[in-house]
Amino acid sequence: MADAVRHNLALFGPAGSGKGTQAGFLERELGVEHIATGEMLRQERSRGTELGQTLAAYLDAGKLVPDEVIVAMIRHRLADPQADAGFVLDGFPRTVAQARALQEMLASLERPLDAAVVLDVPTAQLIARLTLRARQENRSDDTPDVIAERLRIYHDETEAVLDYLGHSVPLVRVDGAQPVEEVSKAVLRAID
Ligand code: AMP
Repeated sequence: MADAVRHNLALFGPAGSGKGTQAGFLERELGVEHIATGEMLRQERSRGTELGQTLAAYLDAGKLVPDEVIVAMIRHRLADPQADAGFVLDGFPRTVAQARALQEMLASLERPLDAAVVLDVPTAQLIARLTLRARQENRSDDTPDVIAERLRIYHDETEAVLDYLGHSVPLVRVDGAQPVEEVSKAVLRAID
């Protein structure tokens, strides 16, 4: 019997580009595991553990948490049977060191990434969306200064990840400024 179709995907885009929304869509549509590092970190913080307290300083400042912390979290999730049908990474990898660690983990699981999908949205639109979300969700990292810092880090660190991954993984850019449903359709077409 042929192997079941698996989708091993990574979704990229700056804060406010709609990664969470589109990853949620792919989870429902394809039955893959949505692995969102930002969400995992916020949950850890809300548990009030010692690790959570350490993480809070990074989250509130919009800084990246240390690679070792995030890589250990991801290792755990990828090995979980929940991810057997595939996964969509949302917010990871964000540094080249994380991308290297990911490639090693996936090689040992014999599950290479099928595609990296990048959501492109103009900066002015990102700022408008994040400012609105700040009012709706009261997230500690959606203040103007922290938004600027998160966008800067994406530009400085995460764009380099795309260069790195692009050598071995099909990389597709999708116009993330379209209405949500159109973005979803474009993402599905991109990974087909
Ligand atoms: P997000 O919800 O993906 O925008 O992530 C919110 C925050 O969590 C980021 O600003 C970082 O502080 C932290 N974070 C999320 N993913 C990572 C990652 N892969 N590496 C380091 N820090 C991360």
